[in-house]
Amino acid sequence: MADSPVELPGRLAILPFRNKVLLPGAIVRIRCTNPSSVKLVEQELWQKEEKGLIGVLPVRDLEAGAVGSLLSPGVGSDSGEGSSKAGVSPVETSKQDTKNGKEPIHWHSKGVAARALHLSRGVEKPSGRVTYIVVLEGLCRFSVQELSTRGSYHVARVSRLDMTKTELEQAEQDPDLIALSRQFKATAMELISVLEQKQKTVSRTKVLLDTVPVYRLADIFVASFEISFEEQLSMLDSVDLKVRLSKATELVDRHLQSILVAEKITQKVEGQLSKSQKEFLLRQQMRAIKEELGDNDDDEDDVVALERKMQNAGMPANIWKHAQRELRRLRKMQPQQPGYSSSRAYLELLADLPWQKVSEERELDLRAAKESLDWDHYGLTKVKQRIIEYLAVRKLKPDARGPVLCFVGPPGVGKTSLASSIAKALNRKFIRISLGGVKDEADIRGHRRTYIGSMPGRLIDGLKRVSVSNPVMLLDEIDKTGSDVRGDPASALLEVLDPEQNKTFNDHYLNVPFDLSKVIFVATANRMQPIPPPLLDRMEVIELPGYTPEEKLKIAMKHLIPRVLEQHGLSSAYLQIPEAMVKLIIERYTREAGVRNLERNLAALARAAAVKVAEQANTLRLGKEIQPITTTLLDSRLADGGEVEMEVIPMGHDISNTYENPSPMIVDEAMLEKVLGPPRFDDREAADRVASPGVSVGLVWTSFGGEVQFVEATAMVGKGDLHLTGQLGDVIKESAQLALTWVRARAADLNLSPTSDINLLESRDIHIHFPAGAVPKDGPSAGVTLVTSLVSLFSNRKVRADTAMTGEMTLRGLVLPVGGVKDKVLAAHRYGIKRVILPERNLKDLTEVPSPILSGMEILLVKRIEEVLDHAFEDGCPLRLRSKL
Ligand code: ADP
Repeated sequence: MADSPVELPGRLAILPFRNKVLLPGAIVRIRCTNPSSVKLVEQELWQKEEKGLIGVLPVRDLEAGAVGSLLSPGVGSDSGEGSSKAGVSPVETSKQDTKNGKEPIHWHSKGVAARALHLSRGVEKPSGRVTYIVVLEGLCRFSVQELSTRGSYHVARVSRLDMTKTELEQAEQDPDLIALSRQFKATAMELISVLEQKQKTVSRTKVLLDTVPVYRLADIFVASFEISFEEQLSMLDSVDLKVRLSKATELVDRHLQSILVAEKITQKVEGQLSKSQKEFLLRQQMRAIKEELGDNDDDEDDVVALERKMQNAGMPANIWKHAQRELRRLRKMQPQQPGYSSSRAYLELLADLPWQKVSEERELDLRAAKESLDWDHYGLTKVKQRIIEYLAVRKLKPDARGPVLCFVGPPGVGKTSLASSIAKALNRKFIRISLGGVKDEADIRGHRRTYIGSMPGRLIDGLKRVSVSNPVMLLDEIDKTGSDVRGDPASALLEVLDPEQNKTFNDHYLNVPFDLSKVIFVATANRMQPIPPPLLDRMEVIELPGYTPEEKLKIAMKHLIPRVLEQHGLSSAYLQIPEAMVKLIIERYTREAGVRNLERNLAALARAAAVKVAEQANTLRLGKEIQPITTTLLDSRLADGGEVEMEVIPMGHDISNTYENPSPMIVDEAMLEKVLGPPRFDDREAADRVASPGVSVGLVWTSFGGEVQFVEATAMVGKGDLHLTGQLGDVIKESAQLALTWVRARAADLNLSPTSDINLLESRDIHIHFPAGAVPKDGPSAGVTLVTSLVSLFSNRKVRADTAMTGEMTLRGLVLPVGGVKDKVLAAHRYGIKRVILPERNLKDLTEVPSPILSGMEILLVKRIEEVLDHAFEDGCPLRLRSKL
């Protein structure tokens, strides 16, 4: 690509380029197979020592599509300097016919001198035809003066068209040319930068832009584009630099634009493609999921079905309007859109809620209700009476806004089953909403729909499940709701239970008011204290104390055993549990206020029996099958090699007898131990535990009812510190401190001076432990028990095993009343404790204790701690002992 003008000889062998143009600066690789061009290459390039130049001249077919050799062979002789035609007219230098004279070709009047950069020769097998592959570089333009033939190829007399160096230098001063070349370079630069983004190999072209003269650049750039033959020709014809540059600028610009447009289109198409491909994929997936679910309905149909459901839901007018608005929104959404499913779930809820639907309340028959209550529940006379009163008021004034009943008592005393009996008596549906552990207001009131995964609260959800608007709704464990940072569930419940407000209960998720006034609320709680007072104020508390062992026995015999047998597919024909055994279960395997564990143990027996009965039935059936195998008929069949699958029953055999258990299983002590394991409790527990000094028997109150609580104290060498263990709360810790202080203050009076040299009170550490260390304990009622245990320790005397106590103590030794007396007395009774020491001011509470229990116990009422000690020790209070002296 020399800059200096090329030495152009006067004559050049001419290689015709059919419908193609070689521009100066361009490099092409051609394959010559045509005999005349092979000859030309051979003679002018291959055989010459010094590779000369050849001329490349475009030729054009006159008839499009005509295919033939480029040059007509053998026109003119080889001596051929003589011109065949000497036309120098601009375009059609020559017209020659091909072999058959039918395909004239036109020689262009201007061509480009080229030199061979590389040559290679090949011989085709088996024809032996010689071919050449030539790499040519275009050098400079020439015009044909005269065309003639030399042997089988053409030669031409040519004249140079490009400017000489001095001419060029002059021309470069031309301001027009300068402007044109600047414009060309700018366009070329733009093209390069566009290409650069697509391919990284344009840096070489960039270098060209800076080093090669602009008039050559114009040719080089244009040569690299795919442009029409006509355009190539006109580029070749642009001998004038200005013309050439402006033409080249136009072509480069056009190329640039076409690249940009093409890019835009590709981007657009790609975008569309990927979006539609994504959609397609998702739809395929959705279809697969639907098929998997067996849900082939179309979405559109779904929405129509949803609308129908909404229409049938009987929503109030304003809510219907709201729902329709939401439905319109849903219709506009694609199922794949993020909000679609949440919007749908919301509408489904609206459609499912019982806006109008109620269970028909039949005319209330109080006698029948009473019978049903009696039928389901043993005892509980007062409770049942109160329920009947409640029902009677409802009968007289169906929309009466009576208080909400709240059953309070330990687990398993029948709170839930009483509530469901109320529903049965009123012929309403029953739904239980568990509130245990609810700390978040949103559990009651729902989350706003703006939250991801928001849901309605438990009440609305319950109503959806029960699908009537007037069920009996049991708010279970209402005392177990707590408040924390997430709001106060109790305040939401307050709104629910308030007849003035619950007509328009507002669930955050639902976001439209729902009328709860038709719901009958019943609540349950284990304890009354934790219920917030405003909530308690709306409720009428009905306490269910625990049952006495006698009551439990009756409940078991009349209610639990029949129910358990039925649940296990048994009857008394299979299993009998005698009263004595139930008594043993109550005494040795359960120690609870309610009957839940009792029921569980009975169920365990029933399960064991069910296994036995099923096994027996099996062996009996097997026996029946074995019998016919010995028959000759069967023998012969087996001998035939036939497989016998039929069941042969001998004639006259009564099948029903086969399944009948000949004698029912009767539970005895051995079976109890086998099924339920060794006894868990016995009456000797208290005696064993107080076998050494320092242990006393207290009565405490837990959410499971009353409990017997042992207190153990021991002393060791130390500095007089007090250690406490057993998961104790602050109040009980203070009681312990108080008890120790009181005992130390009274040490002399109590005659606690030690027999040994060591001062028991001053140089000893005291450790008090409340066994069942994993259960948290708190409350003031252990005061008297603590003092008793300390006195027992220091005086080295055992406490009476048959005596339990409860009571708060003041620093001065007064005994103050405590709560839960009834439950505590029942607990003592369960443990087989015969004497209970109680604060005198708790006397009034004893009326609640069932009289059969009271009559079997000695209740000792005390005012002062000294009296407690007096009752707790076999030989009375140590203080008294000393004062007697
Ligand atoms: P709670 O709700 O108080 O924890 P449940 O109502 O669940 O207790 O009662 C537990 C089981 O004991 C139920 O099967 C119930 O029928 C039975 N039950 C409780 N008390 C009685 C009773 N007085 N008569 C008959 N069955 C009872």
